[in-house]
Amino acid sequence: MSERYDAVVVGASLAGCSAATLLARRGARVALIERRPNLTDYKRTCTHFIQASATPTIQRLGLAERIEAAGGLRNGLELWTRYGWIRPRLDEASPYPAYGYSIRREKLDPIVRELAADAGAELLLGQTAVDLVRANGRIDGAVVEGRDRERRELRARIVVAADGRGSRIAKLAGVPGRIRPHNRFAYFAYFRDLPARSGSHAMLWFLDPDGCAVFPNDNGVTLIAAMPTRDKLPEFKRDPEAAVLRYYTQLPDAPDPRTGTRISPWIGKIDVPNVSRPAARPGIAFVGDAAMASDPLWGVGCGFALQSGEWLAEAIGDALVDDDDLNPALDRYRRHHRRMLAAHHWMMCDYATGRPFSPVEKLLFSSAARDDETARLFHAIGSRSVPFQDRVNARLLARALRVAVTSRGRSPARVRPAVRALPG
Ligand SMILES: Cc1cc2nc3c(=O)[nH]c(=O)nc-3n(C[C@H](O)[C@H](O)[C@H](O)COP(=O)(O)OP(=O)(O)OC[C@H]3O[C@@H](n4cnc5c(N)ncnc54)[C@H](O)[C@@H]3O)c2cc1C
Repeated sequence: MSERYDAVVVGASLAGCSAATLLARRGARVALIERRPNLTDYKRTCTHFIQASATPTIQRLGLAERIEAAGGLRNGLELWTRYGWIRPRLDEASPYPAYGYSIRREKLDPIVRELAADAGAELLLGQTAVDLVRANGRIDGAVVEGRDRERRELRARIVVAADGRGSRIAKLAGVPGRIRPHNRFAYFAYFRDLPARSGSHAMLWFLDPDGCAVFPNDNGVTLIAAMPTRDKLPEFKRDPEAAVLRYYTQLPDAPDPRTGTRISPWIGKIDVPNVSRPAARPGIAFVGDAAMASDPLWGVGCGFALQSGEWLAEAIGDALVDDDDLNPALDRYRRHHRRMLAAHHWMMCDYATGRPFSPVEKLLFSSAARDDETARLFHAIGSRSVPFQDRVNARLLARALRVAVTSRGRSPARVRPAVRALPG
């Protein structure tokens, strides 16, 4: 049996639903394939912080109202290094989005699927893409298999791989990813009655090289995470709670997990390689983690997933609906994706090795902790609202240097001795 669509999107999570929604709204006939059987299924390994870079996309998708109605929070990020807190003061006049969103995936994933279905995408749940259809030497759709093992061919002018970090579609298409090692792992758990001092803002401690983070989420749930370098893994495997507590009882301004109610087991994610590949080839496009999956320490994957879905729909929408040649549009998408994200990804991969701060990072962190304008520029880059190579980065460096020179002699915030003595 063979059915014809304009686009077959594999993976009904953030990237796939973003692309499917926007393509369907442009009038394309879209099949949205998801191997999980229920609309309410969701991704479990996520800490749910969506960077401000994605807020314009979230608004254009019409997701903002749905997220807020489900209890999602407008977030921000407060970042601690041994130089003190960086708390960017942002307002409506800021040229960069001032806030992102925090909402658990158990709430968000069903919302994005409903959004895609409301836009007219045909949501096929419980269907796994197991092969690609080829005709005349080019990709011409996907073979999907239901839970009853019945197979169907879904033919389409384009297959959109939105199937995550380990993309099977990429393997089937022969587009291998470039894998860069990741020298950290993550443990996290959910709590109630554990408010953060930062309100709805996340708190991130860069302990150089370990990381810890608190993510306030929807409906009074707070997520506590530790992301240390791999040499600490045996200790975490032995007793995750004790290992996490050893950090949290010493972190400046952190909530004490012992005062809250833990409502989940400790969840460990040990292997999270950094993967990237060209975001398009003839007949196929990659969005979200399938195109680029970076170190979760930076909380960028959800935003990049929503944004790359939009970039793809923008690039190919007209050609798809008007039956024009798709290849130039796909090439535009590939180049745009690379321009916006490749340098960010490179920076995250470099830090994912577990190396200590570089001299430039020390300069940026110490200046941003003392100076509001440096902190604001830092937010533009850190929230990924501009490409890493944008001239904002040059302004940030220049400003940081000036702050460092003019404040010479004034010592930055003191390092608490207890924090210096963290395990490891
Ligand atoms: C520990 C951890 C914490 C993280 N925390 C954050 C955070 O705080 N903020 C942030 O922005 N990012 C975070 N991330 C990253 C974020 O979760 C991902 O970047 C994001 O989910 C990517 O979305 P996606 O739609 O590309 O892929 P996914 O969400 O992985 O979805 C892929 C979808 O494809 C489906 N699928 C796969 N194969 C097939 C197939 N063959 N056929 C049909 N369907 C298929 C899957 O079932 C799934 O629904 C974290 C990641 C980890 C590991």
